[in-house]
Amino acid sequence: RPVRLPVALEHTSYDVVIGTNLISRAGALLAPVLPQKKVVIITDETVAALYLPTLQDSLRETGIAFRALTVPPGEQSKSLSTYERLTDAILEEGVERRTTIIALGGGVVGDLAGFVAATTLRGLPFVQIPTTLLSQVDSSVGGKTGINTRWGKNLLGAFHQPLCVLADVSALSTLPHRELVAGYAEIVKAGLLGSPDLFEWCERHGDSVLAAEPEALTEAVRQACAFKARVVAADEREEQSSNGRALLNLGHTFGHALEAELGYDGRLLHGEGVSIGLRLAFALSVRLGVCPQEDLERVTAHLRLLKMPASISDLPYSFRVADLMAHMQRDKKMQDGRLSFVLARGIGKAFTSQDVPAELVREILLEDG
Ligand code: NAD
Ligand code: ZN
Repeated sequence: RPVRLPVALEHTSYDVVIGTNLISRAGALLAPVLPQKKVVIITDETVAALYLPTLQDSLRETGIAFRALTVPPGEQSKSLSTYERLTDAILEEGVERRTTIIALGGGVVGDLAGFVAATTLRGLPFVQIPTTLLSQVDSSVGGKTGINTRWGKNLLGAFHQPLCVLADVSALSTLPHRELVAGYAEIVKAGLLGSPDLFEWCERHGDSVLAAEPEALTEAVRQACAFKARVVAADEREEQSSNGRALLNLGHTFGHALEAELGYDGRLLHGEGVSIGLRLAFALSVRLGVCPQEDLERVTAHLRLLKMPASISDLPYSFRVADLMAHMQRDKKMQDGRLSFVLARGIGKAFTSQDVPAELVREILLEDG
């Protein structure tokens, strides 16, 4: 039996359904929430080859009419040109306001299909069927959708909440191990930023998660989604300047700098950058005298035990500290030699600071690189 996690927001609420073999039961699970028995599935080629026939069979059995649109896998598909091709195909058919868009795939498909749903006819109903660990624990909760432009990532977007999320952990059996680790880093992040219990659970069961054991995956996804749902409910539109959703960026300032420095070309997965960034955020917090050294040691030990990236020197690429610093400063996060960071007073105790001396950040990077 799947677990149902309600996400209660100000103007809407929906369920994240978590369990095994959900794609093959999608028709029955979705029928009660669809406004009309008609859907457009958006997916990528890799996921289409693995799971589209199963989804289609299940929709057919329940009498749900569908059409599938496929994009190439990878971040390049979160583009204006793909967006135009998809909306053209949907409008050409004479879509109705009650037709539901289904995103079948990872975060790329979720963000892209979500943005298509948010904007077509000023908003079509939307369902997420996330198939990567990252998309199950992170991008499928919170309602952020969007695409990239030449000016940067996720610069065109909208908040658009789904009718329902089906997180089928069975789909993770085909996910490359690196992608699984990258998604797991966001679960560790959730624990480190606000839930000591979740981090302790990770210390006990992280190996089972990375071995893709279905019970461990279901529990990990449930806890991470429940945690993110709480944060999102308190700050639905990211309006709080200091805490709220901003805390979800723990480890991300360092991570983004590494990703950006490699040109977002896929050599470093987002979650791998976050994994390193988490340790660096704790190292920085210790250096600032706000976090006990033993908490940094616990973070390091956990990442090392699970063979996750923990240091810049774990990567087979070299970085110049000045370039990484320049990326962080360009993030509009620097004022008067001071940077904005999410720091931690200990495990599960993140807070935001606008007052981190750039010099200390540079030192942390120099020691780590
Ligand atoms: P992704 O969607 O590119 O998926 C990673 C790779 O795995 C792709 O090649 C995909 O084809 C493949 N894949 C997907 N499911 C598979 C499966 N079950 N078996 C085998 N292969 C599979 O990447 P991602 O890590 O899921 O998502 C990253 C994107 O998510 C980024 O664009 C990021 O900006 C976005 N994101 C959005 C939010 C949000 O709140 N909206 C949050 C975090 C990340
Ligand atoms: Zn992230």
